[in-house]
Amino acid sequence: MDEIKPRNFIQQIIEDDLKSGAVKQVVTRFPPEPNGYLHIGHAKSICLNFGLAKQYGGVCNLRFDDTNPEKEEDEFVKAIIQDVTWLGFPWQGEVRYASDYFQQFYDWAEYLVQQGKAYVCELDSELTREYRGTLTQPGRNSPYRDRPLTENLSLLRQMRDGQIEEGRMTLRARIDMASPNMNLRDPVLYRVKRVAHHRTGDRWNIYPSYDFAHGQEDAIEGITHSICTLEFEDHRPLYDWFIDNLPVPSRPRQYEFGRLNLNYTVTSKRKLKQLVDEGHVDGWDDPRLPTISGLRRAGVSPAAIRKFCDSLAVAKTDGVVDMAQLEYFIRDDLNNCAQRAMCVLRPLKLTLTNVPEHSLEQLRVPGHPNRDDLPERILPFTREIYIDRSDFNTDSSLSRKKFKRLVPGEWVRLRSAYVVRADDVVLDDQGEVVEVIGSLVPGTLGENPPEGIKPRGVIHWVSASHHQECRVRLYDRLFKVASPGTGGGDFLADINPDSLEILEGCKAELPLAQARIGDRFQFEREGYFCLDSRYSTADMPVFNRTIGLRDTGFKD
Ligand code: ATP
Ligand code: MG
Repeated sequence: MDEIKPRNFIQQIIEDDLKSGAVKQVVTRFPPEPNGYLHIGHAKSICLNFGLAKQYGGVCNLRFDDTNPEKEEDEFVKAIIQDVTWLGFPWQGEVRYASDYFQQFYDWAEYLVQQGKAYVCELDSELTREYRGTLTQPGRNSPYRDRPLTENLSLLRQMRDGQIEEGRMTLRARIDMASPNMNLRDPVLYRVKRVAHHRTGDRWNIYPSYDFAHGQEDAIEGITHSICTLEFEDHRPLYDWFIDNLPVPSRPRQYEFGRLNLNYTVTSKRKLKQLVDEGHVDGWDDPRLPTISGLRRAGVSPAAIRKFCDSLAVAKTDGVVDMAQLEYFIRDDLNNCAQRAMCVLRPLKLTLTNVPEHSLEQLRVPGHPNRDDLPERILPFTREIYIDRSDFNTDSSLSRKKFKRLVPGEWVRLRSAYVVRADDVVLDDQGEVVEVIGSLVPGTLGENPPEGIKPRGVIHWVSASHHQECRVRLYDRLFKVASPGTGGGDFLADINPDSLEILEGCKAELPLAQARIGDRFQFEREGYFCLDSRYSTADMPVFNRTIGLRDTGFKD
């Protein structure tokens, strides 16, 4: 049965609003800035906004908050659309863009000027800061604060028309330089930026600030509950000031919740961008990154991400969530959906001398131990097979308890096949084992061995003549400490140098030659894997390890 979760504070507010009739239909939005790829923190916000809309019969918009042309790109817009779609959330109508409302924002800026509630200021950035005061000291009025209305209007139009240099002037709201809330000390509404925008091109020479844009975007779209993260709590009085002082078509309200932080990784776009731009990882979709595209490439399913997000508290405090919690949901989901398969990562040949030279037996093996809907696999069984190096040890005095694998003179069961014994080894010049010579115990396919034959354990295997050669990428956590860069240190110094191991010459069971992007597998005894979307070719599949079978923590 589903666990009944207590309602979070936002659900409580929505229910009250619906009951009182203050809100007829819930309208939420997810408002990413297209200056990077989405990460797991954004997934929390996506699940919350889309989830609330769905739960209360409302709708959710996808809107790009593209008011800052310097850092924004079309590549990010495309990636974000792909990620939200993949997570399984349909938005209302078309994708929306704050830049579609630039003309409206500008008209409202002139409106504030006409009302004597905004002015053009010529203090440079340093003086603006100085006049602003501090948390303990009130600010001082700008000498430009009392300009005549017509002069303000004419200067604002010159700013708009490209007649003013960058940094020379800003448009500021005329609120209160002595307000205890710094955000109300005549905040900047427009800056001159002679920068092309990814959608509006060269049309604008001035761009609105986040604060001047966000609430108005919400109002234009009829958003009822504008949900954002806690750092915007102090901005709420300003959000409300604009809504109160502009002829906006609706009255949205802002609510703040705690952001998701995960240990052993970073969830800041700036840091993720640095990792990508400096080549510490292999692009935004590197499977070691907590980006949505990285998780996808690693083989994580959207359902696992949604369940993880649903398990998180929606509260008024920021918290750090243990990576193990995300990993739990990934494993739980994969255990149920991943087809079973065998792949030998570090192959060692085992020749079974009592199996005839060209014998080829086709074994039928279930696709999943408790899911009949997944197709059976046909595994060729031959005289020469591969087992994993770590499953053989020449020291037959190792106790059965300690080493549940193959040693000379003893038996193991090959998964879904026969019981075999190791009889001898072939060594190379360095004394390394290069081959094990063994024999099969007849009649043990799906049957117990005769009295006196006690297999030490079960190991996986692949036919040496009938298999698919492949490459395997084993990922570990990207950072070796729980909070990278704490104490003011450089977070890059905490990168785990062994977070990627690439294995060549791995041997996958034949059906894996048909694997497709998006398929998920449990390689028996090794973990969960998927085909890598970047490096796989028709001749050489490349598999990513999504996650190990058990939580082993971080191996320092
Ligand atoms: P970052 O700090 O990583 O750059 P951001 O807040 O600047 O993130 P936006 O694109 O503005 O990124 O975020 C879109 C939405 O996602 C916002 O509503 C924001 O509050 C939310 N969001 C961003 N990061 C998190 C997080 N770690 N946890 C929950 N919500 C988040
Ligand atoms: Mg932001």
